[in-house]
Amino acid sequence: MQLLDGKKLSETIRQELAEEVIRFKSSTGITPCLAAVLVGENPASQIYVSNKEKACRKIGIESQLFRLPVTTTTEELLGLVEKLNKDSGVHGILVQLPLPQGCDELRVLDAIDTKKDVDAFHPENVGLISQGRPRYLPCTPYGIQQMLVRYGIETSGKHAVIVGRSDIVGKPMALMLIQKQLPKQSGADATVTIVHSRTKNLSEITRQADLLIVAIGRSRFLTAEMVKPGAVVIDVGINRLSDGTICGDVDFDNVKDIAGAVSPVPGGVGPLTISMLLLNTLRAAKLSIQPIE
Ligand code: NAP
Repeated sequence: MQLLDGKKLSETIRQELAEEVIRFKSSTGITPCLAAVLVGENPASQIYVSNKEKACRKIGIESQLFRLPVTTTTEELLGLVEKLNKDSGVHGILVQLPLPQGCDELRVLDAIDTKKDVDAFHPENVGLISQGRPRYLPCTPYGIQQMLVRYGIETSGKHAVIVGRSDIVGKPMALMLIQKQLPKQSGADATVTIVHSRTKNLSEITRQADLLIVAIGRSRFLTAEMVKPGAVVIDVGINRLSDGTICGDVDFDNVKDIAGAVSPVPGGVGPLTISMLLLNTLRAAKLSIQPIE
C-alpha cells in the first residue's frame, strides 16, 4: 500500500508558491492579500482560520483577519464583504463557515466579488467549473486532484466513486473528475458515481471503485469490505473523537491491507486544502491586474 502523504506534498507545493510569490512581488510590487472573516467563537473555525493565516504569512502572502461577534447580523456581514470587495489591496476573501445561526450563509457568499472568491463557492464560479473553464477550483477537491496528479495516479477511464454530495467537496469533486482532460490539466476523464445517505447497496457501489473519495464526516465509516483490492482511497473526513484525537472517514488500519494507496488523516487532504487556498490567493492577485481568462 502506498501512503499518499499530503503533508509532505504540501511542503513541496508551498515552497513552489513561496518562490512564485517572490517573483510576483518583485515584478508587480503587489503583495497578495487574503482577508479572512471569522464570526463567533466556534473552536474548530478558530483553529482553521489561524492555520490559514500562519500558512499565508509563511509564504509571503499578507493576511487580514476580521473577527466579528456571534451576534453579527447578515446585513453587517454584507457591509464588511462590500468593503472588502472594494478594497483593491485585498485580493481574496474567505468567510469561514459555518456562520452562526441567523446569518444567511448563501446571501453572504453570493455577495463576494467573484474575482476574489478564492473558495470558489459563488454560483458564477461553480458554473465556470461545470463548463470546464474554471476561474478558481474549490480548495479541498483541488487539493485531492493535485494529490492524484502529483502521485501519478491515472484517473482517465477509471471509475471514481465519491461518497458524500456536499457543495464543498462531493459535487465539485465530481465536476472536476468528469471534465475532458485538457493538455494543461489532468486528474480528469474519470467515470464518476456519487453516493450519499439515501443510496441503496452502498458497499456494492464502493467495491466497484478504482478511486474512492470519502467525504461524509463519519468516523472510520469505510472498511475493507467496501473496497476493491488495489483501489486508491482518499479520506477527506475530519472527525474529533471523545479522547480529543482526530480521525478520518476511513478505517485506515482496516483498509490499508486491501487498498493500493490511501491518504491518511491527519496529514492527507487537510494540508493540501490550505495549500490550494494559498494558490488561489496568488491567482486572485494575478487576476486583479489581468483581464479574466
Ligand atoms: P456535509 O456537508 O455534512 O455532507 C456530508 C455528506 O455525506 C452528505 O452528502 C451526506 O448525505 C453524506 N453522508 C452522511 N452520512 C452518510 C452515510 N452514512 N452514507 C453515505 N453518505 C453519507 O459534509 P462536508 O462538508 O462535505 O464534509 C465531509 C467531511 O469532510 C467532514 O468530516 C468534514 O470535516 C471534512 N472536510 C475536510 C476538509 C479538509 O480540508 N480535509 C474540507 C472540507 C470538509 P446526504 O446529502 O444524503 O445527507
